Amino acid sequence: MGASYDVAIAGGGIVGAACALECAEAGLSVVVVEPGPIGGGATAAGMGHIVVMDDSPAQIALTQYSRQLWIDLKPRLPSDVEYLPCGTTWVAADDEEMAEVRRKKRVLDDIDVRAEVFDERQLYKTEPNLRKGLAGALYVRDDAVVYPPCAARYLLERAREKGATLRIGERVQELTPQGMTLHDKTVLSAGITVNATGAWAPELTPGIPVRKRKGHLVITERYPGFVNTALIELGYLKSAHSTTTDSVAFNAQPRRTGQVLIGSSRQFGVDGAGVDTHMLRRMLQRAQEYMPGIADLIAIRTWTGFRAATPDKLPLIGPVGEHSTLYLATGHEGLGITTSLATGRLVADHILRRTPPIPIEPYLPTRSHEEEHA
Ligand SMILES: Cc1cc2nc3c(=O)[nH]c(=O)nc-3n(C[C@H](O)[C@H](O)[C@H](O)COP(=O)(O)OP(=O)(O)OC[C@H]3O[C@@H](n4cnc5c(N)ncnc54)[C@H](O)[C@@H]3O)c2cc1C
Repeated sequence: MGASYDVAIAGGGIVGAACALECAEAGLSVVVVEPGPIGGGATAAGMGHIVVMDDSPAQIALTQYSRQLWIDLKPRLPSDVEYLPCGTTWVAADDEEMAEVRRKKRVLDDIDVRAEVFDERQLYKTEPNLRKGLAGALYVRDDAVVYPPCAARYLLERAREKGATLRIGERVQELTPQGMTLHDKTVLSAGITVNATGAWAPELTPGIPVRKRKGHLVITERYPGFVNTALIELGYLKSAHSTTTDSVAFNAQPRRTGQVLIGSSRQFGVDGAGVDTHMLRRMLQRAQEYMPGIADLIAIRTWTGFRAATPDKLPLIGPVGEHSTLYLATGHEGLGITTSLATGRLVADHILRRTPPIPIEPYLPTRSHEEEHA
């Protein structure tokens, strides 16, 4: 025998957790079904960078609004979420990339996001372990990093305090217009069902435009002060845009523990979760081109994860059809930690027919999905 809820959510990653909290806080009865540990999917694999990205107006709106929700939440976050307001340093290797720094700065100025152009001297003052000869950077002050699985657990604990039911260790087998069926044939009836299973979402909702995009990460021993801000090469944007080829880019983050988290790689068409030593070597070589001292750090763990990628690089948030009771909250690619809180808010607002803080239309699954080629 099952139970009946206003909202049944498949997936206990950070997106499912954020949806659960927003719905429970609004007074809806909520159940979350998660087969593995909370946040054990892409959420545990991700870097936890909370960052405003400016690829498109819709991406700016979602990342900027969601970053503000993180800033608002910060005083309530437990210490294990490791919120570190370190800012982002977009590193420019040469004059051409400095032109991109200035373009980005104008975009961020227009939307009141605090950003400073660093010359070479200011860059080394902030990050003395970068190699000599880099041109400068754009420093975005209010970006941050968090430890994502603990953030997901915190959101779900708060949802539970607001009355949500968590069914951990159980798997959704099927989503139906009336709710969901679990692997043991238990039926949970619900007014609204949310597919928040990240890169696995097409298994429950076949045909949606979500593909797995594999990534590798490395974490080191503790080296406090080795990296002080979330460092990204401006070439990262080219890497993130490529929809056809494997790519790597220099991306390093400080953790509150003093550890250094090093990324990142992007691969389509790979289903196995095993570490690919070729990709790993390429990624670390790229990192050493920017920070030669990385070669001397001791790495203690390497892992992979799957981003849920969409053709137009925007997530799928909202009902699958105009009057459908099935909602999607997936397709967040490499920004799902950043945009989880805004996703939860948009889902709850749509269910309750409240006016959302930003328009939901660019993220609705019913939009046209044109592939973007960069
Ligand atoms: C290498 C890497 C680096 C990244 N770096 C960043 C970053 O710096 N900043 C950022 O914002 N984002 C980053 N991301 C992206 C971010 O991690 C994801 O977008 C985000 O975690 C997605 O959360 P989710 O809840 O949608 O998915 P997941 O965390 O994958 O959660 C989906 C959950 O669904 C569950 N599930 C699967 N099948 C079923 C089923 N049948 N029934 C019930 N549950 C099911 C899974 O067990 C899983 O826990 C990165 C991702 C990767 C891989």
